[in-house]
Amino acid sequence: MSDLIFLDSAGSSIPPAPVVDEVVGHLRRETEIGGYRAAAERRDDLEAGYGVLAELFGCEPSEVAFTDSATRSWLTAFDAVPLAKGDRVLVTEVEYGGNAVPMLRRAEETGATIEVVPSDRHGQLDVDALDLDERVKLISLVHVPTNGGLVNPVNEVTAKAREVGALVLLDACQSTGQIDLSGTDYDMLVCTGRKWLRGPRGTGALVVRDDVRRRLRPRLMDHSAAEWTDLDRFEPRDDARVFELWEFSVADRLGLIAAARYALAKGLDVIEAEVGERARRLREGLAALPGITVQDLGERRSGIVTFTSDRVPPMELKDRLWDDGVAVTVSQRASTRFDMTRRGLDEVVRASPHYFVTLEEVDQALERVSRTR
Ligand SMILES: *Cc1c(COP(=O)(O)O)cnc(C)c1O
Repeated sequence: MSDLIFLDSAGSSIPPAPVVDEVVGHLRRETEIGGYRAAAERRDDLEAGYGVLAELFGCEPSEVAFTDSATRSWLTAFDAVPLAKGDRVLVTEVEYGGNAVPMLRRAEETGATIEVVPSDRHGQLDVDALDLDERVKLISLVHVPTNGGLVNPVNEVTAKAREVGALVLLDACQSTGQIDLSGTDYDMLVCTGRKWLRGPRGTGALVVRDDVRRRLRPRLMDHSAAEWTDLDRFEPRDDARVFELWEFSVADRLGLIAAARYALAKGLDVIEAEVGERARRLREGLAALPGITVQDLGERRSGIVTFTSDRVPPMELKDRLWDDGVAVTVSQRASTRFDMTRRGLDEVVRASPHYFVTLEEVDQALERVSRTR
């Protein structure tokens, strides 16, 4: 790695060597024997991938589908949830823009309503404020938002949702690869490869519990999602691969599986502790700088650290930090409009240190923020 201080694992992280070797190696192999034979050589590894992801998500291999992004996973799952006029969909205040738009579109189409669940005084979803009845068909639960450090409760929400038969769709984009999800209770989960998991871009996964799948209506099925059994007949698959398409990037999928293996080998508990230590140090250091305000909410916090300066606008601060060798990003209002509107924020600088960032680098980054602010 270069001298760059990389604080953007919430955006698109840096894949470790085994991931890159897997992707590049497979592309090379395709140039030697063609895509079909190259894939056939790796059939067992591709198959084993379902088990690897199942370990990561605390589910069964039959409940895992590979996709090309978290958004694809989310759209696929959401579109399969039957919704009608009068149905209610609950969302958190930190709902992600890419989920909110399709939700609003479907509300328009079906007459279902989208309702935002209030947060508690820490800024996390307020479990006591969940207003549930049989009309609630879905709770869209963002585990860790794109624009801040908080971690939303999951198991309590799922337990309450079960009492009225509502499904919980967990957006684990920002928690996969930094938080141990194996004991997490949800009906459906989406994740991306490129963030904390350190996988290739253009990869993602969807988990749908076996008993939940039977309540859904998959809409975009091709001839691998369902078998074309007769001239006028087809038979959908009886596992989560009913949500996959026949075609995918084999190199990227192998890369994603390698990334998941890499994270599991390091241990998600170890990763969570190391990320937490770096984020805490960064947050405390930033809070001590005059003119800098840490914007994170939440009692339980993740590796995402957000802040603003009272002198330099977020975009300019980010640009100056890039020039100074510190990779951060800016999170904008339209990514989390409910939350940012409520807090009166347009933009925040987002820094997200993974375990591979040293404590010295965190301190150097703080010093550069201090020079720039
Ligand atoms: C990044 C992100 C997504 C979307 O992931 P893609 O890989 O771009 O599809 C969804 N939800 C949250 C909370 C995110 O941070």
